[in-house]
Amino acid sequence: MISKNIGASIYGLISSLYPINRSLTGPGVTQTLEILKKHIPIYIHSIPTGNKVLDWTVPQEWTITDAWIKNSKGEKVVDFKENNLHIVGYSTPFNGKLSLTQLKKRLHTLPEKPDWIPYKTSYYKKTWGFCLTQKVYDRLTEDIYEVCIDSTLTKGSLKYAELIIPGESEKEIIISSHICHPSLANDNLSSVAVSVFLAKYLLKRKNKYTYRFIFAPGTIGAIVWLNKNQKEIKNILGGIVLAGIGDKGAPTYKKTLSGNSVIDYAFEKVLSERNKKHSIINYFPYGYDERQYNSPGFNLPVGCFMRTPWGEYPEYHTSADNLKFISQASLEDSYAIILDALEEFDTQIFYKNMHPFAEPLLSRHGYYESIPSSLHMACLWTLALSEGRTPLSLVSLRSGIEIEKIEKSAQLLEKIYLLKKC
Ligand code: ZN
Repeated sequence: MISKNIGASIYGLISSLYPINRSLTGPGVTQTLEILKKHIPIYIHSIPTGNKVLDWTVPQEWTITDAWIKNSKGEKVVDFKENNLHIVGYSTPFNGKLSLTQLKKRLHTLPEKPDWIPYKTSYYKKTWGFCLTQKVYDRLTEDIYEVCIDSTLTKGSLKYAELIIPGESEKEIIISSHICHPSLANDNLSSVAVSVFLAKYLLKRKNKYTYRFIFAPGTIGAIVWLNKNQKEIKNILGGIVLAGIGDKGAPTYKKTLSGNSVIDYAFEKVLSERNKKHSIINYFPYGYDERQYNSPGFNLPVGCFMRTPWGEYPEYHTSADNLKFISQASLEDSYAIILDALEEFDTQIFYKNMHPFAEPLLSRHGYYESIPSSLHMACLWTLALSEGRTPLSLVSLRSGIEIEKIEKSAQLLEKIYLLKKC
């Protein structure tokens, strides 16, 4: 099923995207999306600066063409053109001369990893700064430094992309990745590229559910998407945020807020049946865009698939998260796990309780005539957990009642219109 060299193909796409300077907005995102569009027919949305989106506002568009620090001999000691991590993301324009003491207030390093450049941004507080290795920092001598940041913050737009692959059912599964990081490979080009190849595969086959791929800048992008799609979300059965899936660590699945949904069951089953090292962690309200999707009001059961979780590898958000840090084997493995989980999702059966507000008056529905008393507890559990997203396999696990009994109960409850198959 998995085409040969898929790991190499994914890695190839990452390599072509890696040099681009991405941010929340700006030409790097556009360029990235244009490259993705050559692979899959995404639709690129553009939301103007200043638009109100839920509790947020679409930020100004950031463009940077050059940034450097020169010593008094005119030598560039830090150069954005050598590595785009050198500039703090969203740095405001600046031109001027500074003493070493003044300059140092604007510099960020990683003293414990003296060869690495940290990745920093300041999206919502206007400032500027540079990131550099501790080694270069230590070599800076008393001098007058010339600093240039050729950037603009203007009224523009925020761009994100979507690809909808219609299935037999209009019920949807969303697959979301953030596209706002500059030259970092694992976080999150790994997920962007794996998503592209998943989409390529799903485009070629008949699908039970509709898939919606979202490529959006972190946080604000997902918020913009949710704001725009408030009506569509009723069709979403579940989804997955992909983040950092190319490193050599073991896979990690972070559950949805409820921890009870089909996507949770699918990933847990696939990971546990592989008999290889993996972690399954509970939801917590920090991390990637699962925070937005699972938030009260939207309440979408969206999990997060990673390898080593963010912040748990030293290379995270540094120049060491480069093309050497990720491997073709891990990319291929992540791709296979996600496809297996999507296939597991397809096999799951789940129902919706047709009388959800308080318990139904069972006698009014002919319950006692239609259902044997031996299935009473199985029926109560099935009614209690069938909000339309919890599979019968999880009802069985949660209740400790055999799946056959749960399935039989669901079928009988459907006959008396207390449940409806989703
Ligand atoms: Zn990140």
